[in-house]
Amino acid sequence: MRHFLKNFIIVFVALFVIAGILGLVKNEQNKGPETVSISKMVEEINAGQVKKVIIQGDSLSLQLKDEKAKLQKVQKEPNGTFGDIVKNYGITDASLKQLSVEVKGESSLKFWAGNLLPVLLPLAIFILFFYFMTRGVQGMNSKAMGFGQSNPRQTTPDDKNKKTFADVAGAKESKQELVEVVDFLKDPKKFTEMGAKIPKGVLLVGSPGTGKTLLARAVAGEANVPFFNMSGSEFVEMFVGVGASRVRDLFNKAKKEAPAIVFIDEIDAVGRRRGAGMGGGHDEREQTLNQILVEMDGFDPNLGVIVVAATNRPDVLDPALLRPGRFDRRVTLDLPDIKDREEILGIHAKNKPLESTVSLRKIAERTPGFSGADLANLLNEAAILTVRRGLKKVGELEILESIEKVLLGPERKNRIISDHEKKITAYHEAGHAIVGHYSIHCDPVRKVSVISRGSAGGYTLKMPTEDKHYHTLAQFRDELAMMLGGYVVEKIIFGDDMISTGPSSDLKNATEVAQAMVTRYGMSALGTRTFGDHPEMVFLGGGKADQKDYSEKTAEAIDKEVGNFLAEAEKRAREVVDSHRPQLEDMVKELMVKETIEQEDIERILGSRA
Ligand code: ADP
Ligand code: MG
Ligand code: ZN
Repeated sequence: MRHFLKNFIIVFVALFVIAGILGLVKNEQNKGPETVSISKMVEEINAGQVKKVIIQGDSLSLQLKDEKAKLQKVQKEPNGTFGDIVKNYGITDASLKQLSVEVKGESSLKFWAGNLLPVLLPLAIFILFFYFMTRGVQGMNSKAMGFGQSNPRQTTPDDKNKKTFADVAGAKESKQELVEVVDFLKDPKKFTEMGAKIPKGVLLVGSPGTGKTLLARAVAGEANVPFFNMSGSEFVEMFVGVGASRVRDLFNKAKKEAPAIVFIDEIDAVGRRRGAGMGGGHDEREQTLNQILVEMDGFDPNLGVIVVAATNRPDVLDPALLRPGRFDRRVTLDLPDIKDREEILGIHAKNKPLESTVSLRKIAERTPGFSGADLANLLNEAAILTVRRGLKKVGELEILESIEKVLLGPERKNRIISDHEKKITAYHEAGHAIVGHYSIHCDPVRKVSVISRGSAGGYTLKMPTEDKHYHTLAQFRDELAMMLGGYVVEKIIFGDDMISTGPSSDLKNATEVAQAMVTRYGMSALGTRTFGDHPEMVFLGGGKADQKDYSEKTAEAIDKEVGNFLAEAEKRAREVVDSHRPQLEDMVKELMVKETIEQEDIERILGSRA
């Protein structure tokens, strides 16, 4: 709105200036020659006073012999010529002979002023007004959205929040691969003189929170070069055609500051496979991607610009991005293992006062599957909890309690549930716990609770004792049974027609696991192959659909196998529950009182696992 006002004022002032000029022109016309009538002219000519008659366009003026006299403008009929006047008013031949007659072209100024200005002026004002208006709109855009400009967040080497490799725990192999890039950025000449070819693009691959952004920053920090940071989704905003020009702008800025790093976070937002879009597919995303490819091919590899991109979906990236000379180097970041987790905890514990009894090792043990971001979040939650409890130092209890918060969302103790619902939840969770406890391939149950967390009514927590990279069929079977434990108990206790909506997500998860067992892991009677190649098709900007590589008949067979796994799991769960009914009742009783029971209680109630 500011811009609008400003432009309005400019146009207003311009209007005044033009009006002023117009006034001047008019005034000149008024002040100029004195006007005389035709009869006066005839009189003067016949008296021999006139030296010259000037005919200019439609106007007629007289210059008298008397040098001091002003030019006289003759008031005549619009289309009457001087000849007509001579004829009609009886100017004598003798006086005509002394007279010189000059015919002039129309004065351009007067012509313009008189005829065109009234037409052109409004037009000019109109154009001017629109010009400023549109400039104003663009101005607003570039403020708010960086119209066509990349506006990358730039981090300069002397930034206070600079990261280095020391800030990244674990990820040893990844760091090793990137040291090379750092060395090159530090001294590009050394490498180019040796004729060495340096990678233009490095793709960081890893699930969310594994430290991709952090690592890219650390590379820039280690090399002491500027870091241009943009996220894939920022290229594609609102306006068509903006993405490509932003890419251009981003690279231009980086090239100017070379050696430098261009970091494109979440590149899958723009770098998805092309041509899969419906309806021709010349969309914004595609143009942006094309521009990235053009830029990457365009600059000299020895210039010292390295493009780092991050994604958690390398499978959906356009193959063109991964060709030599582009993102041909790939660095994978895995979820941290127990040693890495301990290190990551160490880094994030640095600025927090910890109780001396806290064992980071023990916390690392309890957090398999946590990403670096989860661990950072965990310690943060623990610190908040410590403050809330009015303690001086973060204790182990606070950290362990925060694990569940990070895993399952905050407790919702205030949600009021009826005793009846609490009972259903208790039976349901006890069902999970008992089936899990007596299925030896399941991880031990660490905690059962009827306190609602996030969207779950209650929860049963099991924790692996070690990091697992593989899953066996036996484990899948036991896990399926445990997943259905809650559902089975509800059926047994409350009857088939009193089953609640509570287990719906259990059923969904169990179905997904069973499907994966059949279609991905070849664990069913259908045997040694996978079904569905799972490449993503992009439908109208992002949906996905598995590509079927099997017939309808096979689809039926798959459904049957999935059903078999689930039926078998339900049967096993039912057997376990049926043979441990007293333990089930004990656990429910304890849950109704304590609401949350820990591993020691569970083992006391249920006895040994076998
Ligand atoms: P990504 O980009 O892979 O989603 P980030 O780099 O944004 O993950 O990580 C989020 C946060 O998690 C980081 O700011 C950092 O605090 C923490 N983190 C992740 N990985 C590590 C690690 N290896 N060492 C230390 N901190 C980490
Ligand atoms: Mg990130
Ligand atoms: Zn459940």
